[in-house]
Amino acid sequence: MQLSPSSHYKILETQIQELIVSISSHPHLTYYQLTTFYYQAQQFPLHKFTFTPHQDPWLTIGIFAGIHGDEPAGPYACLDFIQKLIFNPTLAQNCRLLIYPICNPAGLSLSQRTLPNGLDLNRIFWTNSQQPEVRSLENELKSYHFDGILALHSDDTADGIYGYVGGDLLTRHLLEPALQSASAFIPRSQSPLIDGWKATNAIIEQCFNGILTASPSQFPKPFEIVFETSAKFSLNLQISAHTAAISAILEAAIRLHSHALNL
Ligand SMILES: [Zn+2]
Repeated sequence: MQLSPSSHYKILETQIQELIVSISSHPHLTYYQLTTFYYQAQQFPLHKFTFTPHQDPWLTIGIFAGIHGDEPAGPYACLDFIQKLIFNPTLAQNCRLLIYPICNPAGLSLSQRTLPNGLDLNRIFWTNSQQPEVRSLENELKSYHFDGILALHSDDTADGIYGYVGGDLLTRHLLEPALQSASAFIPRSQSPLIDGWKATNAIIEQCFNGILTASPSQFPKPFEIVFETSAKFSLNLQISAHTAAISAILEAAIRLHSHALNL
């Protein structure tokens, strides 16, 4: 059976509603509907799940997916990861997580990369855009002052997984274990040039302007990772690769942080 493109949105919305019910009395997990976007009388909620540990968190990390509406693997992986957290909260030990599984819900419902008006959401952050999706997400980025920002994407031209690193100088030490762990499902891109950027062992150190990052005024800079799967691989493999990358990044971030504290 072939899924109609927008089916992913319907399936993800159903899974989100089920997840909301199953975490209703969970000690660490909470759901918020941040806002609703309106397009032609249709409503598109912006969802947020939070994970809060018992003790004071060492790091606050934001995970953003579905920024491009034709990349459903990241949203599915967020929900999978939250499912894993229900039974195994140690996956996010010492971290507070804010998870935004569908940042561009109207685009996802149309199965198109851009917002319904054709704008690429990942090129208009911190540009004074009045686009409601940008304003809501920029508010989150400003209020939480994240220590780490992870954006999940899928690339239909890449031959394997890769990532962009920005922000804190140590960020590449978090992407490397993520690539290692995710390569159990999808190999690393071997290309020296990915998406027009010079890549070394699937790591790119430059980036487009206007992508989802911390506020330009935030200091010190958080670690900023864009993790990309290759959309040439099956959706299931992409979801597994994303989920593995999330776990590896959290583990490495905590390890790095405890080294920095000399624990
Ligand atoms: Zn993307």
